[in-house]
Amino acid sequence: MTAELFDTHAHLTDPKIAADVEAVLARAWSAGVTSMVVIGYDLPSSEEAVRLAGQHPGRLYPAVGLHPHEADTAWPALLPRLRELAAAPEVVAIGEIGLDAYRGWSSEPNQRRLLDAQLQIALDVRKPVCVHSRAAETAILPQLEAFAKAAAAAGLPLPGVMHCFGGTLEEAQPFVELGYLVSVAGPVTYPKNDRTRRLAAGLPARSLVIETDTPYLPPQGMRGQRNEPACIVETARAVAAARGETFAEVARVTTENARRLVTAALAGAASP
Ligand SMILES: [Zn+2]
Ligand SMILES: [Zn+2]
Repeated sequence: MTAELFDTHAHLTDPKIAADVEAVLARAWSAGVTSMVVIGYDLPSSEEAVRLAGQHPGRLYPAVGLHPHEADTAWPALLPRLRELAAAPEVVAIGEIGLDAYRGWSSEPNQRRLLDAQLQIALDVRKPVCVHSRAAETAILPQLEAFAKAAAAAGLPLPGVMHCFGGTLEEAQPFVELGYLVSVAGPVTYPKNDRTRRLAAGLPARSLVIETDTPYLPPQGMRGQRNEPACIVETARAVAAARGETFAEVARVTTENARRLVTAALAGAASP
């Protein structure tokens, strides 16, 4: 039996992918990628994620959210519609949401307000979050700690996933302890990126998931090209090498963890 892979973060609605998304999906299925989270970053991409996932039930799972880059826009007016989408039974996570101190495309106070508003939606609809945290691993911790505790108190089995974690293993530790999954992406294949290989090697098996962040962050073999879910194979191989485990073991563990995220959303939504 071939190994099954789960891409926990793919922007399949990005214009670079949308034009030939069915061909992209066909290549993913033949590479052994059986499931993906289709992730939103603004309201149109979130609407589109729900629509596209609806065409591939049981394989594509939508997540809806407003990226921190949106924090200086008139986002409060969008929250009612976002909340409606978030409550849809097939939506598995609120994301991507978070803090980005690297690009600095929006002000920090606004990013924090937008994050809080969406953490509240996640709590209200009882679903996990998919977190973008860039150069903000320490800055984001208090908000995510409060969320994880409130989510646990509300009976949510898992608070969410730290997508494309760029920090060190030590920086990942508090998120692991709070129950977050930590996602490793294409940069783990870059020759100079020992930090992410150390992270991939040291994360507890129960916390580890993988992603492509399609169409961004292609693995080393695809540098300079468009990334797509089929390329997650190269990332899984690099994770296996870093951990001294077989490809099949990494595929099994990461897919099982990603399924726990989906189950958490369904369990949370089903309880009162
Ligand atoms: Zn991101
Ligand atoms: Zn993303």
